[in-house]
Amino acid sequence: MNIVILTTEAVPFAKTGGLADVCGSLPQQLAERGHKVTVIMPAFRQVFAAGQTITTTDEKVSVAIAGKTVTARLLKSHLPGSPCEVVLIDQPTYYDREQLYGDAQGDFWDNCERFTFFCRAALSAIDTLESPPDVIHCNDWQTGLVPAYVANRFESHPWMDHVATVMTIHNMAYQGQFWHWDMLLNGLGWGQFTPDKMEFYGHLNLLKAGIVFADSITTVSQRYAEEIQQPEYGCGLDGVLRNRRQVLSGIVNGVDYQIWDPATDKHLDANYGIDDWKTGKQANRSALRQELGLEDNPEIPLVGLIGRLADQKGWDLVTELMNNWLGEGSPVQWVVLGTGDHRYHQTLSDLASRYNKRLAVHLGFSDQMAHRIEAAADIFMMPSRYEPCGLNQLYSLRYGTVPIVNPTGGLADTVTDATEESVRLKTATGFYMPSYNVRSLGEALDRAVTTYRESPQIWEQIVTTGMQQDWSWRQSAVRYEQVYLETIERLHGAAVV
Ligand code: ADP
Repeated sequence: MNIVILTTEAVPFAKTGGLADVCGSLPQQLAERGHKVTVIMPAFRQVFAAGQTITTTDEKVSVAIAGKTVTARLLKSHLPGSPCEVVLIDQPTYYDREQLYGDAQGDFWDNCERFTFFCRAALSAIDTLESPPDVIHCNDWQTGLVPAYVANRFESHPWMDHVATVMTIHNMAYQGQFWHWDMLLNGLGWGQFTPDKMEFYGHLNLLKAGIVFADSITTVSQRYAEEIQQPEYGCGLDGVLRNRRQVLSGIVNGVDYQIWDPATDKHLDANYGIDDWKTGKQANRSALRQELGLEDNPEIPLVGLIGRLADQKGWDLVTELMNNWLGEGSPVQWVVLGTGDHRYHQTLSDLASRYNKRLAVHLGFSDQMAHRIEAAADIFMMPSRYEPCGLNQLYSLRYGTVPIVNPTGGLADTVTDATEESVRLKTATGFYMPSYNVRSLGEALDRAVTTYRESPQIWEQIVTTGMQQDWSWRQSAVRYEQVYLETIERLHGAAVV
């Protein structure tokens, strides 16, 4: 198949979260399976800083938007080590900014225009490809207009009659909602601004546009695909998703084990595998503790946390729990890496300065530190309120770092709670908190620490079972391929391959 992937993030070009990991890895896996894959994304400032070879072309695309004509150059690059071409939409007024979506004041005021432009420029960029696409795979609200354009044959691009659109939801909480006058930016006309199409209680909702018009919808775990059809997790769009449940499926994200494997990871103080994980982890743990000024005592397990400092990730529970678990004689130490909400920066800094022998906090984005924490920590804590897929629990499994999770979304799909039965069956890989509150999180931590200290054999079994799990992209790519083929078949009767 000829597949076009539309995204705003892809490793190594631009990243704020898991979307980038997905769009950096999935195209390569699809290419390995014999498909031609092109990634189209904005040429953000970060893209130029990523150190990849970028070539300029003579091709330009122009879009009439907001009472003016805006032009972008098309630049070309490749996903490293793969045949996948990356087409970059270079429009500095929109994309040459410090961050991707907003700054300390909040989201950029012109985000609707920036990403409406991206979608419309992408349509013209697709015109320039050697051969027309069989599938356009859109990711998150920033690309949600494209299925609407294709379904409405906007500007009559010839390939629109044959292409299948797939919309992947990476997080329901981010929907791209704007005031109704922003409808004027997209050129689709007020006829599309109705509750069964792009309107959401008087607002324009770009994710809803994608959900309503895409030929198929996926999200990033099976559990999350079920959850988002319920009011608790659907963020207002649960009804719309229930309406489209026949074409909605869940595919867990994979891990790029070329990047995330403790045996070859270049960021680590010591590489290790399943046979020498104890000595390997100990070497990494000692080195990190020394660097961060934490006491190096093997009796005390190190608990690691990495992630956006956002309510979603359960930091309210974590910071409250730390208050109880940081005093004299506490059986654990903590290392935290994250950036995000100001109030969590504040609380974590305060805690770290009060308890500097037991808690080390690194407030910022550091890929290297993320790898080192995964290798050094004994326990990884991820008490997300909701979690579409989650990647860090998958990295933790491979690094022998036992995850404590709230069993929601992808966390439930990928971690098996250590119960009497699962320990007997040798399938346990982590610990569940029974419900979403501090007491439950404390109970789960208590269970983990007790097992670590008092039942080393069971701990070893949990660690090694986790390390043996295969959450590679290969299997997920096969599932995406199936979705593409089924969608094409549903639209046109026969698959193209
Ligand atoms: P989300 O996409 O909701 O942020 P995921 O778990 O799916 O969460 O993916 C987050 C990705 O971003 C992981 O690869 C994680 O290691 C990385 N990450 C998050 N915060 C940081 C940080 N402060 N420094 C380095 N990497 C981070």
